[in-house]
Order: sequence, then C-alpha cells, then structure tokens
Amino acid sequence: MNLVGKSELVAACGIYCGACHRYTKGSCPGCAENTKATWCKIRSCTKEKGYHTCAQCTDFADVQTCRKFNNIFSKFFALVFRSDRKASLALIREIGVEAYSQEMADKNLPVLKRR
Ligand code: SF4
Ligand code: SF4
Repeated sequence: MNLVGKSELVAACGIYCGACHRYTKGSCPGCAENTKATWCKIRSCTKEKGYHTCAQCTDFADVQTCRKFNNIFSKFFALVFRSDRKASLALIREIGVEAYSQEMADKNLPVLKRR
C-alpha cells in the first residue's frame, strides 16, 4: 500500500508520524495533535519559536549539541531503534518538509536509520 505523504505529520524532532505504527493504528494522533506530550521539550520549544521542526532552528550549528533535542530519551530511542533524527532533519533542510514527508511515506519509515 502506498501512503500519501502529509507534511503536517512530520514531527518537531523530524520523525514522520504518518509511518509510525502507533499513528496508523490510531493510538496516537501524531506529534502536532498530541497535546498530551507536554513532557517533550522539543515539541514545546519548536512551538514557542514558531517552527514546524528543529530543521528551521539556527541556534545550533549541530543539532546534537542542543540538550533539548539530544536528551536522555532520544539517546535511548536512537540506540534501540537505530534511528537518526539528525539525518532526518538534514534531509528536511535539503529537500523541504513536503518532499521529506512523501519520501518517508514511500519508504514507510518514521525516521532515517543510522548506517
Ligand atoms: S519526541 Fe517529541 S517532538 Fe518527537 S514526535 Fe515525540 S512528542 Fe513529537
Ligand atoms: S534544536 Fe533545540 S533549541 Fe532549536 S528548536 Fe530544536 S529543541 Fe529548540
């Protein structure tokens, strides 16, 4: 089944919620609509700054040096799922959030994998 990429389903941290099984199963509304995710500093920081994602942030040359972005949960997440949200953000910067959402939908992948 081919998914249609939706840019609004790109999370603040670069995850593509549209390809996440929690979203497709209906157990999570996706980052943007998940108002219960008050624990997430990435989500609240991007909201405060008026950004869609951290890809728009110019505060850090390397997003990994942002302690909100690179927190204990994200380190754990990256280790367990071999995910590379930094690479996802770099791709968003390169091709734009629209094309990124379609690429991730085509691959049925919520986040790029570490190589
Ligand atoms: S970790 Fe935070 S920014 Fe990323 S999808 Fe979850 S709530 Fe959204
Ligand atoms: S990189 Fe850090 S400071 Fe910049 S928007 Fe993301 S969480 Fe906020």
